[in-house]
Amino acid sequence: MGEPFDRVEVKGLVKVYGATRALVGVDARFPAGEVTVIEGHNGSGKSTLLNVLGQLVRPTRGQVLYGGLDAKAHGGVALRAQIGILAHAAMVYPDLSGRENLSLYAQLYRAPRPAALLEELCDRFEIGRWGERPARTYSRGQLQRVALARALLHAPRLLLLDEPSTGLDVRSVDRLIEAVEQERARGAIIALITHDPGLAAQIAQRTIRLARGRVVEGEPDAEARA
Ligand code: ADP
Ligand code: MG
Repeated sequence: MGEPFDRVEVKGLVKVYGATRALVGVDARFPAGEVTVIEGHNGSGKSTLLNVLGQLVRPTRGQVLYGGLDAKAHGGVALRAQIGILAHAAMVYPDLSGRENLSLYAQLYRAPRPAALLEELCDRFEIGRWGERPARTYSRGQLQRVALARALLHAPRLLLLDEPSTGLDVRSVDRLIEAVEQERARGAIIALITHDPGLAAQIAQRTIRLARGRVVEGEPDAEARA
């Protein structure tokens, strides 16, 4: 699937872990150029949904459609190259520095001007001299900034952010809001999980609320069913 897609949809999504039903029939749409915030209590299935969208978790049942094409038939490397994800685990190599991590990902994604891209990212996320130290020495907020830079380094079609403001100070949250807004403006499809109502209010065009693995607010046909 090398074609850029304009929306992501899930239909009848079910994910079961042993005896735990993490998702029990979720229908949702994520349009381009909009930020969809996913809300819900701990354990409601938010991360599972995001990880399914990011091709990190395989659903038990249901469809994941990228621009109308089913991931089961059209998935793989070309699709993954269009996805940027900030998950719970930072996906940063601890023994490499932040800059080395970003450099590595820039090469992996065959960025045309990797050195310029690295400087731009360090500037955008205020990764200073500390960026030359091994990532295992970073504070939560520093690590989060490198992980965020990594997630959007390749200008993905689909940007998935799981609690991206965790560990960030006020200034870094402002930087995060700015970055998400820039990505949205270039037409990315963005799904973001947050427990911060202030951040949600500032950033969201749409909101989906999950409870016990179901969408309880914001699903496409919610009015029709009521
Ligand atoms: P949220 O992100 O909303 O807090 P999650 O999607 O992480 O919720 O989890 C939903 C439910 O699925 C929880 O009960 C959680 O314990 C369970 N779960 C998530 N991942 C796994 C896993 N890898 N193995 C077993 N259970 C899991
Ligand atoms: Mg979670």
